[in-house]
Amino acid sequence: MSGPSAFSLAGRHILVTGANTGIGQGIAISIARAGGTVIGVGRSAMDDTETKVSEAGGQFEAVRCDLADHDAAKAMLDQVWEKTGPIDGLVNNAGIIRRADAVDFTEADWDDVIDVNLKTLFFLSQAFARRVLDDPGRRGKIVNIASVLSFQGGIRVASYTASKHGALGITRLLACEWAAKGINVNAIAPGYIETNNTEALRADPDRSAAILARIPAGRWGEPEDIGDAAVFLLAPASDYMHGAVVPVDGGWLAR
Ligand code: NDP
Repeated sequence: MSGPSAFSLAGRHILVTGANTGIGQGIAISIARAGGTVIGVGRSAMDDTETKVSEAGGQFEAVRCDLADHDAAKAMLDQVWEKTGPIDGLVNNAGIIRRADAVDFTEADWDDVIDVNLKTLFFLSQAFARRVLDDPGRRGKIVNIASVLSFQGGIRVASYTASKHGALGITRLLACEWAAKGINVNAIAPGYIETNNTEALRADPDRSAAILARIPAGRWGEPEDIGDAAVFLLAPASDYMHGAVVPVDGGWLAR
């Protein structure tokens, strides 16, 4: 498909995890601007996102769910499907990070991060795909939020790096399994984006300056930089893309 409608999400319902803040909120706003309806999932109140989506001319529905509980996450998707109707796209954005030297890294910090960033990403994708495949002719799009640490090691973020490498592998595996069945699975690898996640880094003048000096674009990313790439991967324009990873990192990985 080509032309302006190739980039439109009019009539599409997109479920975005972790939509109350940061990148998830940016994705919700971009989806609204493209004409889509957002179902935002998270643990916290989503009033701020609801206001911003509405200002962008979109519809928003908030759903509370702790995505560390995989059974609850799967049940949530089924409930949304029954109540609101079919979902056209899933954005696996919710994520957490724990920082410690590898020699001191605890099992709890390993499990917590893998649970939310990788295990729920897989099982929510599975729950979504089961619904899509149950309805002959239906298509679906999955966008996984990976990271530049899907390609690099980083330091002091062992479980996060493992989860993001894993997220990229799962993106490719699911893309291969589901491409011929009408489901596109792709990923975005954000660089350094201004969110709560990076607040501590930005507050440290030395680390912040070192990061900025390494970004070819010369600035940190904004949540909607990721949102606009997500719209592309959710829209008809990307129908022939399967298992791709799109870096949105100001050139970080190109360096
Ligand atoms: P934030 O910390 O700002 O937001 C994280 C989001 O995830 C929140 O909405 C949070 O909801 C949600 N979340 C976390 N745990 C759970 C849970 N158990 N159940 C439900 N929701 C949960 O992070 P970012 O916006 O920065 O990150 C979003 C994604 O982008 C993550 O996957 C992150 O790894 C990735 N990323 C971020 C980068 C950056 O520079 N910021 C760089 C590369 C990747 P709640 O507040 O309710 O817990």
